[in-house]
Amino acid sequence: MRIINARNLDGDKFSFDVHQGVIQNLKIQSETLSEPNATSISNRAALENPKQTDIIIDAEQELIIPAALDMHVHSRSPGLTAKEDWNSLAKGAWRGGVVAVADMPNTIPPTMTRAAVLEKAEIARASGLEFTLQLGVGAGNINQVAELLTSPDLPLAALKVFYGRSTGDLMYDDLNKLGKSLPRDCKKLIVFHSEDQCGVDVNQAKYSGRTHSRANRDFEVHSLIRDSATAHASTKIILEWAVSSGRPVHIAHVSTPLEVEMVQAYKAKGLPVSCEVAPHHLLFSTDDYERLGPLVKMNPPLRSRAEKEDLLKLVGQGAVDIFATDHAPHLLSEKHQEVAKSPSGVPAIEFFYPLVFKIAEMTGLSHHRLLEMSASRPAELFGFDKKGTIANGFDGDFVWIKRENFLVRNEEVVSKCGWTPYDGFNLPIKIMGTWNRGKCVFLSK
Ligand SMILES: [Zn+2]
Repeated sequence: MRIINARNLDGDKFSFDVHQGVIQNLKIQSETLSEPNATSISNRAALENPKQTDIIIDAEQELIIPAALDMHVHSRSPGLTAKEDWNSLAKGAWRGGVVAVADMPNTIPPTMTRAAVLEKAEIARASGLEFTLQLGVGAGNINQVAELLTSPDLPLAALKVFYGRSTGDLMYDDLNKLGKSLPRDCKKLIVFHSEDQCGVDVNQAKYSGRTHSRANRDFEVHSLIRDSATAHASTKIILEWAVSSGRPVHIAHVSTPLEVEMVQAYKAKGLPVSCEVAPHHLLFSTDDYERLGPLVKMNPPLRSRAEKEDLLKLVGQGAVDIFATDHAPHLLSEKHQEVAKSPSGVPAIEFFYPLVFKIAEMTGLSHHRLLEMSASRPAELFGFDKKGTIANGFDGDFVWIKRENFLVRNEEVVSKCGWTPYDGFNLPIKIMGTWNRGKCVFLSK
């Protein structure tokens, strides 16, 4: 296939070919090209069922950007497929402009053994969505982790350590043992869910009388139990471990400005540390419990409006490495329970780029940095060396966007959970189409 007259976010016009899924002949154009056999990018029928593989698409100066990679998702499959499965996840990802994901280990069975990795990989492969998996670690598999992470036949980009208890029994806090059990030459990323369990337990005891309410505003207690201090404490310990172990450490979903500053400080010392931010920590604060209650319960939880504003500022300054949605769908029937029983996690992947553009609009984040945080940097961190950039030799992954108001509605959600905390949000771009290795995987109606 060939794309002509595409425009990038800087306003440059460009063209490229995708041959056997790979980008070639990328050229910045000085003039508008005209090809007599070209198909209009708005010709839905031709794009959906290209008669020949050498289709030429005239982008008509529409915006084409690299497809995103969402390196923090919960596919829920195997085992929790009432909430989501790999097919619905794939649909959502492509709708959001995402062509590859990194899936978290808290499925059933948890992704902690060779058999569980292979089982999940087989299901994932059938969906057509490109993926890597994060291996879970616990007392039960610590002695196998090194062998699994270094097995070339297993699609594992990272080890996920739930330093605080977030989901089930997946928890590990013996960092000394973890450091010793990994071979020196294992360069795989160690991803941390960073909340200090001792602090959470102390707060839990203190506020236990307040967790049996179902009233929206009472969900605020969730942010008191998992307060910012518990995140600061564990992130400090983890970053110190990065120093002593020399491992590449990635802090998942940072929710507080202080953690971003800590990561920056360690990075400045030359350490291979990075962090990600999820849209919900930038677009909601504890003020939103009143309106949304269980629909904005997640771990780590929402922070005060002041902390959220400071986190936004840091994102605008380019201090955070990547965006990742922490897409974690639950059914509404599960969510609408008392605080203690309502599961943590919210869906988001199908709005990936529209949410990111909203955040950029609010923070002044540059186009260049927006694309880095959504596509090229996640690709680099998680080992997708031919993704995240529109460049010769890279996979033909790209997204057609329009700068127009996109009203988010629950009725249009494609995640199996059937709702979104962003219902009613006006987002600044609409995804018109997504291509993965030159194949059109999503077209907007
Ligand atoms: Zn998560």
